[in-house]
Amino acid sequence: MIKKLPIKWKLTIWSSLLLSVLFISYNLLQYLVMEKWIVSYEQQNMRHQLTEMEAFLKEKSIQTPSQLRRYESYFATINEKNQLLRILDKTGEPILTVSHAVPNDWVKPKNTTSLQYEIVRHGEDRLLILRSPLTIFSGTIEIIRNMEAFDRFRDTIFLVMIATGAGAIILSLLGGTIIAKQLLVNVLAMTNTVQKIKTNGLNERVPINDTNDELAQLGKLFNGLMDDLEQAFSQQKQFVEDASHELRTPLTIIKGHLTMLNRWGKHDPEVLNKSLQSSLKEVDRLIHLVNELLQLSRVDIETVEATEAVDVCAVLDSVVRNFSSVYDNYTFQLIRKERVFVSIAVQHLEQIFIILLDNAVKYSRESRKDIHLFVYEENGKVNIVIQDFGIGIPQADLPYVFHRFYRVDKARSRKQGGNGLGLSIAKRLVEKYDGTISIESKEGEGTKVIVTFPVK
Ligand code: ADP
Repeated sequence: MIKKLPIKWKLTIWSSLLLSVLFISYNLLQYLVMEKWIVSYEQQNMRHQLTEMEAFLKEKSIQTPSQLRRYESYFATINEKNQLLRILDKTGEPILTVSHAVPNDWVKPKNTTSLQYEIVRHGEDRLLILRSPLTIFSGTIEIIRNMEAFDRFRDTIFLVMIATGAGAIILSLLGGTIIAKQLLVNVLAMTNTVQKIKTNGLNERVPINDTNDELAQLGKLFNGLMDDLEQAFSQQKQFVEDASHELRTPLTIIKGHLTMLNRWGKHDPEVLNKSLQSSLKEVDRLIHLVNELLQLSRVDIETVEATEAVDVCAVLDSVVRNFSSVYDNYTFQLIRKERVFVSIAVQHLEQIFIILLDNAVKYSRESRKDIHLFVYEENGKVNIVIQDFGIGIPQADLPYVFHRFYRVDKARSRKQGGNGLGLSIAKRLVEKYDGTISIESKEGEGTKVIVTFPVK
């Protein structure tokens, strides 16, 4: 049952229960110690009196019961309040009895051969008895003390203990509720926020108080997480919007051609042919775009598995060979060529080179179709530089070229089949292997792309 209660009540109940157990056991212990202490104090007291009486009997050299009776007044003066003094002969008959508020018949006279204590009850009263054998003639001294006063005192203390105990339990219940409430106020705020996020969206945040305790830290962590999530979510949304936009352009063009052909163009072979060619080009573009989008999402999802050391120059050589055969009017020169190894999947390194060489080719100018390549090790890093002498990138655009779908000159890039995704794919791939990628460029003079990787 208790399992189903809210944490607030669990905390309250447990803390009060624990406090009550603690309080009760402490009081019980205190009560027992007090009881024991008082009884032993009274016993000592009675023993003391016994010694005093024995000394008196010796001093007066009393030897018979009749001599003893003469000193009754002495015994009456030394007797204490609520106490009965009795001296018995060897048959157990009282020879002398003095009493203060303890009737004679409450305790039956009894002989003893050794010193002994006894506690007996008489109605509400408790009587502490000390019996000791007489030394002057055979008989017994009995001291019977009523513990009534002490018992009354003890009962009062007991009542006080119960009252304070009950007070303490009530206080602990109250305190427990307050503490639980304070503890859970942040958790409740978090629950409310999550509830609001469910209905209102990702922009809700947990209010943070300035206590800076663990719960406030949890709140901050939660808010940070929500910031990241919101950012990722809005990036994703932006990406879908951008991608849809990119897909729409070729589709609109194809639709335009098809509509025209449908209306009248199909009967004119020249128009038909031109439209089909254009549409096919757009379909190619669509396929290319979809492929790039797929690559982009794959880079994000794929995890890097254990990779072999790859000879960078060997991979670059093979990619350059392919490029040279397709673009035979370009010159690709491996200017600096050190044998270095990088831990990377070969197809990923090839993909990076293809993207960068493709850009170098695309954005070279007619007047200079040289592409320079450098591979070397420096400061414990493998550096790969791909340099062209083409149109370059304006300074203002440099910070954005790694963004998805970013193109400096949209029309030009589109004409050359660019979707603005190449560099962002390359950047993600490079960073997957703890590498870096940067661009230095001057408009009208050319561009240098520098990729670094940790040396294997
Ligand atoms: P795209 O597929 O359009 O080339 P990228 O992401 O590869 O997309 O490049 C983004 C933009 O950066 C390009 O549109 C182009 O404007 C610019 N750019 C990239 N590489 C170069 C380069 N070597 N020279 C000049 N501009 C470049």
